[in-house]
Amino acid sequence: MQHKTDLSRTLERIDGRPYPAYKDIRGRYDFEFFDLSIDKVQGDPFASPSRLSIIISHQESELPTDLFSNPSRRTGTENYLALAFSRACRQASSHSGSGKSGLISIDTPGQEMLARSCVEIGPSETVVRFSVGLPANGRRIRGRSAKELLIKQLPDIVEDALCYDHLDAQAVAAFADTAEDADTLRSLLAERKLVAFVADGAILPRASGIDERPMPNAVPFQSPESFRQTFELPHAGNVSGMAIPEGVTLIVGGGYHGKSTLLSALERGVYNHRPQDGRERVVARADTTKVRAEDGRSVASVDLTPFIGQLPGGKDSSNFSTENASGSSSQAASIIEALETGAKTLLLDEDISATNLLIRDARMQQLIAKEKEPITPFVQRVRSLYEDCGVSTVIVLGGSGDYFEPADHVIALDNYIPHDLTQEAKALCDGSIIQQKLDPSTIATSPEASKRKADPVSIDPYTSSRGRPGRSRVKTRDARSITFGEDEIDLSLIPQIVDSSQAKAIGSALLYASEQRLFEEHLLPVALQRTLELANTQRLSALGPGDLAQIRLQELAAALNRLRSLRIH
Ligand code: ADP
Ligand code: MG
Repeated sequence: MQHKTDLSRTLERIDGRPYPAYKDIRGRYDFEFFDLSIDKVQGDPFASPSRLSIIISHQESELPTDLFSNPSRRTGTENYLALAFSRACRQASSHSGSGKSGLISIDTPGQEMLARSCVEIGPSETVVRFSVGLPANGRRIRGRSAKELLIKQLPDIVEDALCYDHLDAQAVAAFADTAEDADTLRSLLAERKLVAFVADGAILPRASGIDERPMPNAVPFQSPESFRQTFELPHAGNVSGMAIPEGVTLIVGGGYHGKSTLLSALERGVYNHRPQDGRERVVARADTTKVRAEDGRSVASVDLTPFIGQLPGGKDSSNFSTENASGSSSQAASIIEALETGAKTLLLDEDISATNLLIRDARMQQLIAKEKEPITPFVQRVRSLYEDCGVSTVIVLGGSGDYFEPADHVIALDNYIPHDLTQEAKALCDGSIIQQKLDPSTIATSPEASKRKADPVSIDPYTSSRGRPGRSRVKTRDARSITFGEDEIDLSLIPQIVDSSQAKAIGSALLYASEQRLFEEHLLPVALQRTLELANTQRLSALGPGDLAQIRLQELAAALNRLRSLRIH
């Protein structure tokens, strides 16, 4: 390994030379209290910035072991460090020269505390991965500016963001504690036969549709007594709130009374939230999946028969493929695909569902003969889904009383405050909604039970037309889409993708699975599960370079299921 003075000398030597001479600084340098590794050097000042990493031992940073004593605490602490590093970068960053010259940045966590490849705390050291725009004038190297940035400013950033005596000890502990409490709470749901929990005092609404921070002056959550349970958490102590049991739960209430806001909080409850978010103690079982309508999506060989029977034109619904799904068939496919990943709790919201998949009322049944309607609405299957397949549902529906019948629980929101109206709703039932049994042997409710094996050549991350043949191209710019080979995967309507680094992780995971030929050997969801096991056992960075954030099998499968070239054997 070289010393930082070697880096200093190289930068002086290449000062004023054409940009590609920056390649000479690749390598690892000893900065005394940390190591700097220059991993990837950009080709020109306008290209994506260079990738660097800091490796600092816990001995040097004096990071207390208590802050990473289990994976929950570790992820909380990693999020804090990423935020601290990001703050320090913003202060140090100065745009100096052409293109991205002088910019220094790191992947920045949002409200969710996701594991991220940008900060990984290991047993003996912390690795921090970040980006630097190496300074240039036009296309000439500004070696002296680079020296100022890397030799002078960077050690200050490292000291401010990673050395424990420079951190706010209380704030970093709060991140670790909050993460540990949330994971504890989530892990306790199953043994109490609950699917979700919302603590009293939680703030559910967000500042705006584009701002995930808590809404100021919102009405704090308050549980109805009949749903109230108390949990003892390692740090917050006794926490009470609304416990949603397994089974079928209906959320009703007048328009604008907070139904969708509650459901969205449950949907995000699969992730932990940072301190002061308002949803720190709002949790859902880890496999909870929101399913919505998404007309226009593609579907590859999904068995829709639980919800959709004989289609017009003799189209086979047991092996349903389309380039352009309808509202109902897209949502039915999303339900079946979610079950196939092992999801045991489904969330549905009237606002983004296909009405004809959810309900069909008595008058419509009289008008349209049964043989002319391929759809068995969800309301007739939801009980059997629970009783025979063990899958719970939480559904928001303010526009119809049909779900009173199959519901175990009815929660009514009134001015954002929930009330138990189960008795009142049940009193209105007359048995007119006939429940139809599902045959559990025909429905895959785990990856191993899947009937779908992908045709490996249909998952092709390589480009043929552009560049050299055989080069993989997997790119993401934001959380909304992935360029995958010649294809584009639309992620914008997958509800629980919350971060662009998750989209990157999905792209990397698909590329990894394809390169390791996992689709040749395994069923589609099993291949994806194997890929995620790698990220879990070896940390996220094992999936590939770049800024990656933690993903679930549910989102990974949802993305692959939207790949338009996907074919099933
Ligand atoms: P619904 O689905 O019942 O029609 P929404 O959940 O969409 O209602 O909520 C309607 C509006 O009320 C939204 O703008 C939301 O941000 C706001 N809201 C929701 N919960 C609260 C709360 N606890 N305090 C203040 N405003 C809230
Ligand atoms: Mg709504």
